[in-house]
Amino acid sequence: MYKITLIPGDGIGPEIIETAKNVIDATGVVIEWDMVNAGLDVYAKEGILIPQKVYDSLEKNRVALKGPITTPIGQGFQSINVLLRKKYDLFANIRPVKSIPGIRVPFSNIDLVIFRENTEDLYIGIEKMISPGIAEAAKRITEKGSRRIIQAAFDYAKANHKSKVAVVHKANIMKLTDGLFLACARDIAKAYPEIQLQEVIVDNMCMQLVMNPAQFEVIATTNLYGDILSDLCAGLVGGLGLVPGANIGNSMAIFEAVHGSAPDIAGKNAANPTAVILSGAMMLEHLGEKDSADLIYLAVKEIIQQGEHITKDLGGNATTTEMSRAIIEKILTLKNNNL
Ligand code: ATP
Repeated sequence: MYKITLIPGDGIGPEIIETAKNVIDATGVVIEWDMVNAGLDVYAKEGILIPQKVYDSLEKNRVALKGPITTPIGQGFQSINVLLRKKYDLFANIRPVKSIPGIRVPFSNIDLVIFRENTEDLYIGIEKMISPGIAEAAKRITEKGSRRIIQAAFDYAKANHKSKVAVVHKANIMKLTDGLFLACARDIAKAYPEIQLQEVIVDNMCMQLVMNPAQFEVIATTNLYGDILSDLCAGLVGGLGLVPGANIGNSMAIFEAVHGSAPDIAGKNAANPTAVILSGAMMLEHLGEKDSADLIYLAVKEIIQQGEHITKDLGGNATTTEMSRAIIEKILTLKNNNL
């Protein structure tokens, strides 16, 4: 039995986390869920954004499934997502983006993984007003931070028989910061002669992804470019409702969808639960439960391909609950067929 921290978050978070929990439970993997919450809803009730019990649970269990948490723009709140990633040094934000048959998008052959650096870059949050009308932000890139995310991308490429890693940068303009990231990539690539290093400037990367995404297998990049490219790639396969993610450090892993709290559809039972369900499957893989993870991947794929129980963002009219119920029934059928 595993003990896992479950953080519902806010916005659509509680609706989709509940479905992901039910889907994971349907695989038969026995999990004791330790539910704690953080975010604006908690702040409204308890006057604190992250109660101590959240830290205690994370530090005890070391693995969590988390819903999105809203960061209000321009109200002096620090992002809880960024805070947790920094506090626990969850340096690798890993986001697999894969075409799912049945979704009407221009490309059907996308299969790539984004390795986004998760702890530095402009996300260190150092901004200041130089004088009225002039603001500045600090962009921090370190050799240590760069090497470990690039190394993780190359290790993944090697272990999964990928032939190339694209390192995305803007070193032609930011010669010191992005220049350092690129220099680390060139050095690390020497140890992987069988893997091609693709050096791509971020603006060109956007165009290449939109025109020919199948040329990329693994993408390693800094924090802000990774954030933007993740949403772009999500759009290529059918939207934010589909793309899962993991925040991995040396001693903790927090799994969460790429999307945010989607306040525009919160409370309407309309959110696509796929991204958080697939984040749950990534979590099972991390725990060594690959067969159960594969069961979820297959069930999700089949339900989307059948197209009868899909949410509005995918062109259907199912609710969050209906789509997740169909996925659970598919998992139970697949399990029975294998017995
Ligand atoms: P953040 O900055 O917190 O990552 P964001 O600005 O990227 O958030 P989201 O909350 O991810 O914004 O929402 C962007 C758009 O995508 C919204 O229109 C939202 O409704 C839609 N969206 C996000 N997640 C889902 C989902 N699971 N199902 C359906 N639509 C979604």
